[in-house]
Amino acid sequence: MTPQFLSDNNAGICPEAFAALTAANTGHAIGYGDDEWTPRAADAVRRVFDCDAPVYFVFSGTSANALALAQLARSTDAVIAHDFSHVNVDECGAPEFYSGGAKLLTLDTPHAKLTPASLAPRLVVHGVHASRPRVLALTQATELGTVYTPDELCALCAAAHAAGLRVYVDGSRFANAVAHLDCAPADIAHRAGVDVMTFGGTKNGLPSGEALIFFDASLADEFERRRKQAGQLASKMRFIAAPWTGVLADGAWLRHAAHANAMAQKLAAALADVPGAQFMAPTEANGVFVHLPKPVIAGLKERGWQFYVFVGDTGCRFMCAWDTPADAVDRLCADVVALARAA
Ligand SMILES: *Cc1c(COP(=O)(O)O)cnc(C)c1O
Repeated sequence: MTPQFLSDNNAGICPEAFAALTAANTGHAIGYGDDEWTPRAADAVRRVFDCDAPVYFVFSGTSANALALAQLARSTDAVIAHDFSHVNVDECGAPEFYSGGAKLLTLDTPHAKLTPASLAPRLVVHGVHASRPRVLALTQATELGTVYTPDELCALCAAAHAAGLRVYVDGSRFANAVAHLDCAPADIAHRAGVDVMTFGGTKNGLPSGEALIFFDASLADEFERRRKQAGQLASKMRFIAAPWTGVLADGAWLRHAAHANAMAQKLAAALADVPGAQFMAPTEANGVFVHLPKPVIAGLKERGWQFYVFVGDTGCRFMCAWDTPADAVDRLCADVVALARAA
């Protein structure tokens, strides 16, 4: 099968996660998290973040986002997010649904990154006719493959907190952000002021499952019931939890993310020399977002390469995963160069 670049969630399960899954598959274990693996996985997450926050596992990123936002925003509140954010465009209204009507206030800023200045007009509390801004929702790494630095996050959190908002981070690709910044995970989490965060596993080699972390433990009140109500409390929780112990034990999570990032860098470097190629954003995480000439796109598809064209009819997204082979990137680059030359 031709290696492809559609999405990092198209990749399989990494060996470390699979080994832990197999190890957990012996005998009976009590359900709903009262097994030996779930507390071990939660402890491993806390060690990575150097904190003692409550950690909850859920099946998907959408449920993590929606339930976290519902936890932070009442039905009369508003959540500020980027136009391109997953919570805004890719969740079929789940945050609005689970919060019972909280309104998303979105902003269109460059490279899918919000800034303190861009927030200012949204932080104003209008009269009784408008929802009250209560949460700032950020994505790390962003939907355009960019990354907030610790300083940028600190400034955003400070602006949000000063206005009485809580900060939530959709960290579906948090590992890729850490790998890019080469920082301590805590530096772009609670140390920067983030209150609640999803630490993504699915896109980084886990079979499924995301870890929701309440750095401010007071915000987790009754969250266990909210998770159950939403159908996100896994009966066989050990199989969601165990893979985490596998990838967190020896830093596999970060190695895999660094590999995916490196493959994206390699691809971006080759594309930079292609006449007509225009990057939508700098390549910082594991995706390359670039406008390519139409004949090049058609030629790549003809040769069997798979990727999404999702901004107009020339804006391409190439996602790299934990298992993207370097030689596949080389062959893709060679095809792009050849097609560009012929065009
Ligand atoms: C993939 C993704 C999610 C999670 O999506 P699910 O399909 O619900 O697991 C959340 N946020 C971002 C930015 C994503 O790319």
